[in-house]
Amino acid sequence: MQDLPAFERSDDMVTSRDLGREAMLAMQAVSEALRVTRMVEHEAASGALTKDDDSPVTVADFSVQALIARRLGQDFPDDILVAEEDASALRAIGSAGVSARVVDLVRQVDGSSTPDDILEWIGRGGGSPGKRFWTLDPVDGTKGLLRGGQYVVALALIVDGVVRVGVLGCPHLLVGEGASRHGKGGIAVAVRGLGAWWSSLSDDSMQRLSVSDVDDPARARVLQSFETSHGDVGRLNRAINALGTRAPSIPMDSQAKHVVIASGNADVLLRFPSDAGVHEAIWDQAAGALLIEEAGGRVTDLLGRTLDFSAGRRLSYNRGLAVSNGLLHDALLTAIQCSDSE
Ligand code: AMP
Ligand code: MG
Repeated sequence: MQDLPAFERSDDMVTSRDLGREAMLAMQAVSEALRVTRMVEHEAASGALTKDDDSPVTVADFSVQALIARRLGQDFPDDILVAEEDASALRAIGSAGVSARVVDLVRQVDGSSTPDDILEWIGRGGGSPGKRFWTLDPVDGTKGLLRGGQYVVALALIVDGVVRVGVLGCPHLLVGEGASRHGKGGIAVAVRGLGAWWSSLSDDSMQRLSVSDVDDPARARVLQSFETSHGDVGRLNRAINALGTRAPSIPMDSQAKHVVIASGNADVLLRFPSDAGVHEAIWDQAAGALLIEEAGGRVTDLLGRTLDFSAGRRLSYNRGLAVSNGLLHDALLTAIQCSDSE
């Protein structure tokens, strides 16, 4: 990665170009992908398919992976892509209707793409994590998309096991002081050392994100997965009780939760694996983790360890997730420890 540019302008004059080539082009790729996800929101449920692990996949997941792989291939031809979806899943599904719709969607962006091109682009996501690679969850929160809830397009650049750039395309998230000021939906971007930013979809302004200053655990606003099957709800509730917050926790899909904490609108996020052998996928965590850190917060696993993105496709050296505004982190880890020993 090139040396990061130094800011010469005031914060409110920042553009994506000031965040470096990788961030700027990743934001463009994600923005292009959001055009497609928004197009299929109303039809996604009818085209949803079930993967071997029982999780759903839609035409949006395949189309976004194809489009982002295509863009990365143009902009960073030497870079590896490690993405959630697998071209063989699309082939195995064998549904002509689904395949045709994916082709149709990708052609909204690149009219000359052929079905073979699209399968090849999706297949590029099967790269192995190395010294420098991108990781992509084309639709993080597919169940949210199907339900009309939150979902994000999540893209991150990892170099030497450290997340350097993270981009979260959030078509349905309101950030800032009211929707009228910042519009509906936007793209959150973080570059290590250069902060976390929100770029509204309704105008080009960039707003710096920073975590809340809540330091009283009793006032902590806690976020958790909407899908209770994504974790151990009993352990989660025990930890929240031990933290002593009075506010009920807020369910939300995807790394939209990280954006909400990075923007100061919630303070804590916890994830307890549903069983001990489950480790988080890197594409579900990388962009969100950098966003939190660059907004001034902290991200560790449930034992207080830094997330180690050098372990492969999954965070095999970590267990679960603890995210906070930083001020509440010690109290959060203590609450987890106390509730674990109950
Ligand atoms: P969230 O809405 O925070 O639970 O995150 C959504 C992500 O959880 C999806 O993108 C999936 O990759 C991941 N996921 C799906 N099923 C599970 C599961 N059973 N346990 C943990 N994570 C899961
Ligand atoms: Mg996912």
